[in-house]
Amino acid sequence: MVWLLRRCTGCSQYTLKDTCPRCGGAAESPHPAKFSLDDKYRRYRILMKRMAERKQQSR
Ligand SMILES: [Zn+2]
Repeated sequence: MVWLLRRCTGCSQYTLKDTCPRCGGAAESPHPAKFSLDDKYRRYRILMKRMAERKQQSR
């Protein structure tokens, strides 16, 4: 879940929000590539998770 962290462009404070809790500056993701990759495969992850849960229930 590291890619959920954003970093303040002003003081380099890590935060989960769009704005820095320390200085109020803009926070950006230090891993933009992982963000888009996660978006792209999110539907497949959800599908596989559902299939895995169904498999466990049938046992
Ligand atoms: Zn800051």
